[in-house]
Amino acid sequence: MGKNITYKILEDHLISGTLIPGSEVEIKIDQTLTQDSTGTMVYLQLEAMDIKEIKTELSVAYIDHNTLQIGFENADDHAFIKSVAGKYGIHFSKPGNGICHQLHLEGFSIPGKTLLGSDSHTPTSGGMGVLAIGAGGLDVATAMASGSYFLTVPKVLNIKLTGALNPWVSAKDLSLYILKQLSVKGGVGKVVEYSGEGLKGLSLTDRATITNMGAELGATTSIFPSDENTRYYLKSLGREMDWVALSADRDAVYDETMEIDLSKITTMTAKPHSPDNVDTIENIKGMKVDQVLIGSCTNSSYKDLMKAAAILKNSAVHPDVDLGISPGSSKILKMLADNGALSTFLSAGARILECSCGPCIGMGQSPKNNGISLRTFNRNFCGRSGTENAEVYLVSPETAAISAIKGCLEDPISLGADIYIDEPLSYASSDSYFLYNKNIDTPVIMGPNIKPVPLNHMLTEGMTGKAVLKAGDNITTDDIMPSHAKLLPYRSNIPYLSTFCFSTIDENFWKKCDENNGGIVVGGENYGQGSSREHAALAPLHLGIKAIIVKSFARIHKKNLINSGIIPLEFVNLKDYNAIDEMDDLEIKSLKYSLTNDSEFTIYNKSKDITFNAAFTGSSRDIDILLAGGYLNYIKTKMTTMG
Ligand code: SF4
Repeated sequence: MGKNITYKILEDHLISGTLIPGSEVEIKIDQTLTQDSTGTMVYLQLEAMDIKEIKTELSVAYIDHNTLQIGFENADDHAFIKSVAGKYGIHFSKPGNGICHQLHLEGFSIPGKTLLGSDSHTPTSGGMGVLAIGAGGLDVATAMASGSYFLTVPKVLNIKLTGALNPWVSAKDLSLYILKQLSVKGGVGKVVEYSGEGLKGLSLTDRATITNMGAELGATTSIFPSDENTRYYLKSLGREMDWVALSADRDAVYDETMEIDLSKITTMTAKPHSPDNVDTIENIKGMKVDQVLIGSCTNSSYKDLMKAAAILKNSAVHPDVDLGISPGSSKILKMLADNGALSTFLSAGARILECSCGPCIGMGQSPKNNGISLRTFNRNFCGRSGTENAEVYLVSPETAAISAIKGCLEDPISLGADIYIDEPLSYASSDSYFLYNKNIDTPVIMGPNIKPVPLNHMLTEGMTGKAVLKAGDNITTDDIMPSHAKLLPYRSNIPYLSTFCFSTIDENFWKKCDENNGGIVVGGENYGQGSSREHAALAPLHLGIKAIIVKSFARIHKKNLINSGIIPLEFVNLKDYNAIDEMDDLEIKSLKYSLTNDSEFTIYNKSKDITFNAAFTGSSRDIDILLAGGYLNYIKTKMTTMG
């Protein structure tokens, strides 16, 4: 039976387990990447693991998210990450060098390797045949420390591409078309693997746009074969020696298949406020536009920006439009400067932004009140731009550039004959932006805003605590740990962040915890839904929360609680929730020795003199993690045992 690319790479990297969709396997991780927004916590966790050296072949720390430095906090984060990078021999990419995914493609991605990144768009490297997966920060820290990662084996969805894209129709339009077909949930639990004759017409960076947008499908990752287009790109970067051919067997088996005739696709946009709310440009063109932004890890390759420059040549940006351009990397910016494209942008009246995420993560360039913004980015969720009532449309660089000139949403097809941009024969150097100085004695620099990651204690037999909060249904991780722009610079300061824990529900929550030596949180259905942020478990851990008893949990948050050593319990009889009042004294008598994959506990409500039952479900590894007092303690013990 023939193999697909995904399973070939998984088999090559399998450490333990069986490759059956839905089961958990341990795989070897070759490379990791971090960005600064999640990276500070990753490296605090790595430090807490107390290791001598990292086990990955290559790890890179990029600074691309928070580069505004409107206070000392972000600059201190950068200095901390740089010092840890020096200590462990992690490549460090200075601020201004560019966006992690674009830079990783240019400098480090190698077909057939595994990459784990603390950023959801890590699958971008799948455009080069890398099995590239976005994960939580703790997973990435663990991958560096142990060299492995536990993965739920995905199904493989094969998208076979036939035909060729029409003039002015781009890889971004194809990505939006796929999102329209599959929706933002269509890729959950799957790897999207591309094949077919249509691949020939897609350059490496086109493919990277598609794998980048695959994150919006909710997919584990997306992957392309490694072929002559891959080789050409690597050669132009002076890395031809990194090229290896990689393709699925002729008789490869997939769990699902889908065929797309590229010639049937037209220009597309994702309307507010979801990447799968897709329509054709033809259907809504003419809409007045206030802002146009070209850049992000989705669409800031050399070809993307040169195409925009070609459209803007000898034209001016419309008087009512603000056009911003953020190149994906310093290499690309230098090439634009050298070949005159930068001059074209300036002559047209564009704003040239730093090579970073910038407006994509809400770091500047928020649209005006009720503004309409066209962006070549990958996400248009409400409020992500920094302006709550702005309307963000996702488009290709071609659509963005022509619309910036016209002042309204315009179809690039109206330009007539397409403009063909040659892939560069060789890329500029960006060596001065990368640092690599491995020295185990490098002192770790922790500015006043950086605090050690909180650690739990080994599980004790009994547990008592007050019900310091009784929350309702559908509590989100944002309710637990708000993450508005003002709190972003404090991601590396859990003690400070903790004073905002549950602040939208009870602003005195942290004080109650402080006065009662922590406690227990009681909640309703679907507790911890929303973003996967680890801080929603780390802040309660810092405040001394020992257990959370709810009607039901959101899956990822439950995992994060286990990783923090906080016991997640569910009411056996849901009506028992009603019998608990805030500040009741609760006692769980037998815990440590009774914790099994599917165990039930009697909880004594001392204040009411009644008992009720709550259940724990989890894997054997989950139990070991809880017994050790959280994942960091668990991994430390495991690595000591392994020597
Ligand atoms: Fe994330 Fe946007 Fe940066 Fe890409 S450009 S890594 S989507 S913030």
